[in-house]
Amino acid sequence: MSFWPLFPKSDYVKNLELHAHLNGSLSRSTLKALGCLDNTIGTYQTVETNLDDVFSLFQVAHKATRTIDNLLYATRKVIEEFADDNVIYLELRTTPRSEEGMSTEEYIETVVKAVRSVGSGKILVKLLLSLDRRRSMEKQEEVLDLIIGYKDKYPDLIKGVDLSGDPSKGAFFKQVFEKARKHGLYTAIHCAEVKNDEEVKDIIEFKPDRLGHGTFIHPQYGGSLNIWEVYKQKEIPVECCLTSNVICKTSKSYKQHHVQEWIKESLPFCLSTDDKGVFNTSLSKEFQVVQENFNLTQEELWKISKNSVEYSFASPEEKQFLIFELEQWRNKNIPNR
Ligand SMILES: [Zn+2]
Repeated sequence: MSFWPLFPKSDYVKNLELHAHLNGSLSRSTLKALGCLDNTIGTYQTVETNLDDVFSLFQVAHKATRTIDNLLYATRKVIEEFADDNVIYLELRTTPRSEEGMSTEEYIETVVKAVRSVGSGKILVKLLLSLDRRRSMEKQEEVLDLIIGYKDKYPDLIKGVDLSGDPSKGAFFKQVFEKARKHGLYTAIHCAEVKNDEEVKDIIEFKPDRLGHGTFIHPQYGGSLNIWEVYKQKEIPVECCLTSNVICKTSKSYKQHHVQEWIKESLPFCLSTDDKGVFNTSLSKEFQVVQENFNLTQEELWKISKNSVEYSFASPEEKQFLIFELEQWRNKNIPNR
């Protein structure tokens, strides 16, 4: 069996991670270091896990970042771990929240401080701030106003707004995202994680800059022909998170994952981890999974990374730099293409 990558770890393809939630990305070692994880949960190693473990880990990770010091430590660790996995560009997303002893403003400032303090030169980090879809339109707009203020304060760092949270609850409010767009924020929206044809169509017609998951769009994967046709006209890049979908059982298996339709029709997509800590994955592993299940060549895998540059919210100069880094890697590692 051919395993991706065939290189020593230091030569893994350089990757871009565009869909990673801060809390769900906390590794078991970080949770243990923060004294938040005992040995009763999260010991699984494969996708044959139980969903109770997944929910427990989300709760544990959420509790782990309740104080400023823990949040600072955890954010730094997440960034370092992505850098160790050869991620050269990371868009980290998180829902601003308040806790006893930490205001929403302090939450955002702490995450910004953590990003600024890592600065290893190995990884470029941007932030997306999330709106919780379970909140009312008024509440979402209130949080958005705060995000707009922070985007003006840290324009090179806070790039966009995300819509996430329990996909079976709450709603997408177009007006809120129109306002975000008007204020120069990029939009990345979790879409079609569960079947919800009407909302999926509304989101696709709004044409966000990227869609998260995009599971129930294609007719063979629970979507509909009509939605698929609308999607194909818009060609919005989809952030595909295979392990997350298989563990959450919205995809039956890796082999039956909807990413293959995007590959077949050369539609825009990137590979992402979603919650690398909770799902016990890494971006290299996601690439390996795609290689094994859909028989892609090294060059094709490299192109997924290269296309991700275009879909990212980096500045034109930063994109140029990222392309340069990727091309250098290719020249060294895939000479006979
Ligand atoms: Zn997500």
